[in-house]
Amino acid sequence: MLLCATCLAVLRDASGAPGHLSLRIIDTRRSKIPRSVTVTISTFRCSDCGAIWRYREAKDSGPQGWALVPSDETSDGG
Ligand SMILES: [Zn+2]
Repeated sequence: MLLCATCLAVLRDASGAPGHLSLRIIDTRRSKIPRSVTVTISTFRCSDCGAIWRYREAKDSGPQGWALVPSDETSDGG
């Protein structure tokens, strides 16, 4: 998958990093880890290049912020 210029500019794995204006939210999931923190994962699709991004937000030591979702994890053809 070829990323558009704005996707290429997204700062990955950084808490609080902004996305970009062409990202459209398609899903949000919030889950509570027992005796731990609440994890919020939002999924976005870029309306320019179709890239799928996930934004993970949690007050733990796991990965934070933006991560690109591999295209084989997404099944819909657009
Ligand atoms: Zn894009």
